Amino acid sequence: MTWQEEFKRNITSAEALREVLPMTDEEYRLIHEEAERFPMAISRYYCSLIDPADPDDPIRRMAVPSSTGSSLEGLLDTSGEHSNTILPGIQHKYRQTTLVLVATQCAMYCRYCFRRRFVGMDEDPTAKVQDLIGYLHEHPEITNCLLSGGDAFLQDTKKLESWLEPLSREPQLDFIRLGTRTPVTFPIRITSDPSLPELLGRIGEKKQLYVVTHFNHPKEFTDEAYKALRMLQEKRVVIKNQTVLLKGVNADPDTLAELLRKVTAAGIVQHYIFQCRPVVGATNYFQVPIIEGSRIVNAANAMQNGLGKCADYTMSHVTGKIRILGQTDNGEMLFQYKQAKDPSRIGQFFTKRLSPDEKWLN
Ligand code: SF4
Repeated sequence: MTWQEEFKRNITSAEALREVLPMTDEEYRLIHEEAERFPMAISRYYCSLIDPADPDDPIRRMAVPSSTGSSLEGLLDTSGEHSNTILPGIQHKYRQTTLVLVATQCAMYCRYCFRRRFVGMDEDPTAKVQDLIGYLHEHPEITNCLLSGGDAFLQDTKKLESWLEPLSREPQLDFIRLGTRTPVTFPIRITSDPSLPELLGRIGEKKQLYVVTHFNHPKEFTDEAYKALRMLQEKRVVIKNQTVLLKGVNADPDTLAELLRKVTAAGIVQHYIFQCRPVVGATNYFQVPIIEGSRIVNAANAMQNGLGKCADYTMSHVTGKIRILGQTDNGEMLFQYKQAKDPSRIGQFFTKRLSPDEKWLN
């Protein structure tokens, strides 16, 4: 079976989900209602990782709409993406980087997704390659592009090539990043289609490629996931991981520590542990208070070797990427701008006294 055929078998309705996961009538009604608001898609593979006997299964929590995740509290654009969009689908927030939306679909719609305002919806906010190339030429300060979405691998290989081929010829770019969660949620995209690793290998001869993926729980490291990762690594693609700290999924030191160890053992470079954004539907269900999150991350890091603790606990804020460093002796939280929309802030430290339940900097 091709990945496209398998993709069509995704579970996208409460009816289809009920055939594979036990649920009460009330749960069925709520899943149906919530999936009307923000689309549901769960690949058969990712669904098979759920323990049907465990209502609190972490994979289930990330993938299946729930009543407590249906709160409309929160925002749809938490990082100011709208104001950073300079051409359709092209964002320029940080001096050296452009973020480019190249796809609107994902193999699984994470229930905490910060782009849920458009992923899986009819709206098409994707960019055009000629717009991107023109913008790059006007902005020689840009040294890398992040192709994201949606999921950059959820387009056919020819379409992906139409992005990578011209970008690989741009001397101003040091490297290209590709944002994809397919190694985690849909590894068949990589393992069943040799044209994809072949393309990445060919482009990689001209321009270094980074795949930024998104493992959140140790259960996601399956034989299929390892196989997909290896196929990318064999093509000299550097894989980085960003994790979101999620209540009920990985927000305890032991689970997070095990995840970080598995990431390192798979030859993946640690990138970020993100504070979950205050997205509509995620604030109460997934967000962990900052003080508690900092304790969890520091405790998990204490169980790592040097490579395992390279991920910064970070808030992707409207003003920039803010590292959450920990609590000072007087009880204030210490932060530092790792990246900032206003370059004069980069590197700046600041402190703030937070209440134990504060989950974001407003
Ligand atoms: S893979 Fe990324 S873009 Fe897709 S639903 Fe999950 S968080 Fe959103």
